[in-house]
Amino acid sequence: MTDLDTKTPTQRFSQRPLGSTGLHVSALGLGTVKLGRNQGVKYPTGFELPSDAEALTLINRAHALGINLIDTAPAYGTSEQRLGPLLAGQRDNWVICSKVGEEFDAGKSHYDFSAPHTRLSIERSLARLGTDHLDLVLVHSDGNDVDIIENTEVFSALEQCKREGKIRAFGMSTKTVAGGILAARESDCVMVTYNPAHTTEQPVLDECRRLNRGVLLKKALASGHLCHTGEQSNPVRYSLEFAFAHPGVSAAIIGTINPAHLDDNVQQARAALAALAQAQSGEQP
Ligand code: NAP
Repeated sequence: MTDLDTKTPTQRFSQRPLGSTGLHVSALGLGTVKLGRNQGVKYPTGFELPSDAEALTLINRAHALGINLIDTAPAYGTSEQRLGPLLAGQRDNWVICSKVGEEFDAGKSHYDFSAPHTRLSIERSLARLGTDHLDLVLVHSDGNDVDIIENTEVFSALEQCKREGKIRAFGMSTKTVAGGILAARESDCVMVTYNPAHTTEQPVLDECRRLNRGVLLKKALASGHLCHTGEQSNPVRYSLEFAFAHPGVSAAIIGTINPAHLDDNVQQARAALAALAQAQSGEQP
């Protein structure tokens, strides 16, 4: 039994508001690329997809540790299809985030931001995930963030799905500062790359903070590469303290299929949040 097995519920993550969506999420979310796709990814080492039993162990452990946010996408190979049966009977434990816009077929990505495809994609995600609503849907950008927002139907289609109750909130996973800032102004939530080796998108976090929008971090460990540089004695703690130090951040989505890494990430996240809270209380007059 590890130290984490004995934690009481009060020692689990307290949940934080996801901007003004009304959703509340744990500071750490579980990313599920590695549940469904091991081709065309940029992780430091290759890997086999986990079995259903291994994936269920991971999901149950994440829930036991207080994680309530899970991130998937049609572009993550079989991630959505696998999560449906794995989450059966525990839908209410989770804030589910999926995406629209990117499809990954035969080893290649292609994009469709039209209204018909957006609706088709959401209906397909609902069926795959075995649920009648998605909590959050993000547009999976191809890099042309501003053009997608200004010149495609995707945001208006998502707004309509929100009115119909199929989704609770929507936003965009952006790749540019201008696109992230525009997404903050036009939607509920932005997913941003932000870690000690990639700080250029900080203005997006600042704008989200100003407007009270949700912020989810992707690649908080630089897709694992920060754990391989040898520059930090505890790279996970260092990266999470860096991430949570920005007051705009709602949650960091970390991808792992290794239960020991999941435990470590939760411990480091708790320690980072406690250290930041202590530093802030010391700053009070
Ligand atoms: P990440 O969370 O920065 O890093 C994940 C990598 O770090 C994995 O290879 C994982 O390997 C490793 N790792 C995790 N915890 C570790 C630990 N304690 N010690 C050592 N290594 C550790 O990067 P990401 O997976 O690219 O991004 C996270 C999530 O964000 C994704 O799963 C996805 O949900 C989302 N995302 C979204 C987009 C988008 O465009 N919307 C793009 C990228 C990612 P192990 O499995 O061995 O732990």
